[in-house]
Amino acid sequence: MPARRDCGVNVADCLFCKIVAGKVPAKIVKQSADALAFRDIDAKAPVHLLVIPKRHVPAVRDAKGGDGERLLGALLAFAASVASDEGLDPDGYRIVTNTGRNAGQSVDHLHLHVLGGRKLSWPPG
Ligand code: 5GP
Ligand code: ZN
Repeated sequence: MPARRDCGVNVADCLFCKIVAGKVPAKIVKQSADALAFRDIDAKAPVHLLVIPKRHVPAVRDAKGGDGERLLGALLAFAASVASDEGLDPDGYRIVTNTGRNAGQSVDHLHLHVLGGRKLSWPPG
């Protein structure tokens, strides 16, 4: 029986877990022991990357406790380093994570969008 998380997604069926496992191809730009950065398949800006934890966490609200907080901090710092590698400093970039249906989260594996390379409007829609 495959592991099932609170989001109801079988980890074995999770798209981003499959990318981590190399079962679904992706344009990977950087990785660490805990995180992976790859290009979004439907880029909304000249640079649009997704930064994910290698272990399955459904959304930011599920990263609880000391280990969850450590993971979130590491993920954010990793996203900033990837943005810098992509040449998005000093002009700027946006890091955003959609959580739940109202925000339009479509993949139930925590991911940070890193967007840059153009002027980004505010507020988002
Ligand atoms: P969300 O809508 O959950 O905030 O973001 C999910 C993101 O995953 C979307 O921007 C979507 O374009 C991206 N995405 C969906 N399927 C794939 C895929 O198979 N490969 C890659 N690289 N990105 C994907
Ligand atoms: Zn997953």
